[in-house]
Amino acid sequence: MEFLQPTSWPEALAMKAAHPEAMPIAGGTDVMVEINLDRHRPAAIMDLTRVAELTVWGTEDGFLRVGAGVTYARLIDELGDRLPGLAMASRTVGSPQIRNRGTVGGNLGSASPAGDAHPPLLASNALVEVASTGGSRRLPAHDFFTGPKRNAMRKDELIAAFLIEPAKGPQQFSKVGTRNAMVIAVCSFSIALDPERRHVGTGIGSAAPTPLAAPEAERFLEGVLDEGGFWESPNDIEAAAIARFGELVAAAARPIDDVRGTASYRRHALAVMARRSFSWAWSDYRTRASA
Ligand SMILES: Cc1cc2nc3c(=O)[nH]c(=O)nc-3n(C[C@H](O)[C@H](O)[C@H](O)COP(=O)(O)OP(=O)(O)OC[C@H]3O[C@@H](n4cnc5c(N)ncnc54)[C@H](O)[C@@H]3O)c2cc1C
Repeated sequence: MEFLQPTSWPEALAMKAAHPEAMPIAGGTDVMVEINLDRHRPAAIMDLTRVAELTVWGTEDGFLRVGAGVTYARLIDELGDRLPGLAMASRTVGSPQIRNRGTVGGNLGSASPAGDAHPPLLASNALVEVASTGGSRRLPAHDFFTGPKRNAMRKDELIAAFLIEPAKGPQQFSKVGTRNAMVIAVCSFSIALDPERRHVGTGIGSAAPTPLAAPEAERFLEGVLDEGGFWESPNDIEAAAIARFGELVAAAARPIDDVRGTASYRRHALAVMARRSFSWAWSDYRTRASA
């Protein structure tokens, strides 16, 4: 197996152009499992951990641009206040060891339907920046996931970063698993409220071939909040409306029966998580409004 170790971003892109078959490795928490279980035997591996450009984050035109190599642990510590939904999801990833090594770039690279970073990225309309020697492009996270463990990256491209707006309002993330830690999601849900744009964002994990949003549920809840003047006067919202939101989230999913859960359980759990996540986010919004 050939081992490539670039020490700068331009060098990494040049190596990827010369060796499109090379498998990038960041934290290695997915790659090493695949290799150890003999599911993959890549001809070449490209270690990205010496590429300093991937480990930085900064601000750009109102967005946070977070390098693909920023670990979950750093994301929680350094950006948890600005990205609460993604930080909540990051806290549920693996164990401290996995969070110290694992990266959102690696989660995007694997593009598992169960990847915990994906629902909050979708709920916040994040962008994924990919690059090659020919230049870079930014795709909405909504267009990045193309199938189970498949994404829109070309063979000569690497993930440079993701771009996400700092939270404009409350955000939540919920995950159902068979135990409380070190668990792949049976299903997961994230919500982001944006009072400035009067927008509700959603993300569903582990309940379809790809992570996905629930646009009908979003429009429905935006209608309820707008028509009732709730953004200005954040009062109690009728339980029936919250229940309908849950139903629409469950309807957006395309779950299957598998070893972790049945399709019908996943739909049920999604409706519950959507109701609860919105109720928590709304309670947070009301508290902020009355402060
Ligand atoms: C014990 C354990 C528990 C886990 N628990 C969870 C969990 O709770 N939730 C969860 O979502 N995941 C979990 N995972 C999976 C894994 O930790 C995550 O998917 C993590 O985000 C992978 O990041 P990484 O940096 O380790 O990626 P790597 O393993 O290095 O890479 C993963 C994939 O991304 C590609 N890649 C990495 N960086 C780039 C880049 N810059 N450009 C292009 N491609 C790139 C690699 O080629 C590979 O295909 C767990 C794994 C283990 C071993």
